Amino acid sequence: GVVLGIESSCDETAVALVDSERRIVAQRIASQDAEHAPYGGVVPEIAARAHAERLAPMIAAVLDDAGMTLDDCDAIAATAGPGLIGGVMVGLVSAKALAMASDTPLIAINHLEGHALSPRLADPALEFPYALLLVSGGHCQILRVDGVGQYRRLATTIDDALGEAFDKTAKILGLGFPGGPAVEQLARSGDPKAVPLPRPMVGSGEPHFSFAGLKSAVMRAHDTGKYTAPDIAASFQQAAIDCVTDRLRIALGGIDDIDTLVVAGGVAANASVRAALETLATGFRMRFTAPPPALCTDNAAMIAWAGIERLAAADFKPDPLDVSARPRWPLDHDAEPVRGAGV
Ligand code: ATP
Ligand code: MG
Ligand code: FE
Repeated sequence: GVVLGIESSCDETAVALVDSERRIVAQRIASQDAEHAPYGGVVPEIAARAHAERLAPMIAAVLDDAGMTLDDCDAIAATAGPGLIGGVMVGLVSAKALAMASDTPLIAINHLEGHALSPRLADPALEFPYALLLVSGGHCQILRVDGVGQYRRLATTIDDALGEAFDKTAKILGLGFPGGPAVEQLARSGDPKAVPLPRPMVGSGEPHFSFAGLKSAVMRAHDTGKYTAPDIAASFQQAAIDCVTDRLRIALGGIDDIDTLVVAGGVAANASVRAALETLATGFRMRFTAPPPALCTDNAAMIAWAGIERLAAADFKPDPLDVSARPRWPLDHDAEPVRGAGV
């Protein structure tokens, strides 16, 4: 089968066609970095308008790239949340209109499910169950993934997400937006031991995360004027990695029936984070896998792939055309899309 995927929950407008052989038949991604950069972060109204302007031509272009029409698609999968509601509505309404017009099943995808299943698009050998570190701009969680639709959250952040901490550090250092890749790049020429920074939650018996205190400490260190930007970036990145590996050690210590550690979400694109997780997994005698960086940050191939996975499930049912867009949508409970309210 082939699924058309649509992603519009943040500031990437993305469309992809993915088939059940794990081929990304065609895909396009339009970043809105230039639009949001002057504001130092994503402005929801600007994002929604940019999605609305770009999405329809991008869908046409992706189908054209593949030499296909909607009649060749077995389903249309669109992110239905969580995310910035205006952008989510643009993508979901477009998918509903196309589904209705072409009599193609609609699949409403939880964006986090897209991230959670993306490693299986990249790695055919990855079987359920696996332990997942989901680290992105809005989320920082450790999950058990037991199957499609079977996600159990073992840990979450009590304040900021890890990607948010990278973005705030970038802002403090004047690196612009988006910040994660810029911090990673600058950290390469810095000393990770130069700046003393806290490791919030390290040593706690529960595997939860906290990054607000780390960000404040970065701010104070920067304000002293004693440290170079590369040293601050490298020391921040090391502190963040120490937090993540310590928290995972606690979570994995409580699991004995899983032999694979997986990372997904935008921060999974970070090479130092990946390397630290690989070392950690080896220590636990676990296999480690991570999608290529382009599948870690927001994209539509992961949404189309989640649609392929849902289609293949024995209990597959298309979503009703009145399924709602949801600004908040936890992955682990109440995971069924809701109907009726608004879009
Ligand atoms: P969510 O998935 O939680 O809804 P999102 O969709 O906005 O949030 P993603 O696109 O999945 O987030 O990830 C973006 C985040 O990843 C940003 O915070 C960005 O700074 C971070 N990020 C991207 N590349 C890197 C990198 N190389 N190193 C560190 N962080 C990175
Ligand atoms: Mg983005
Ligand atoms: Fe995301």
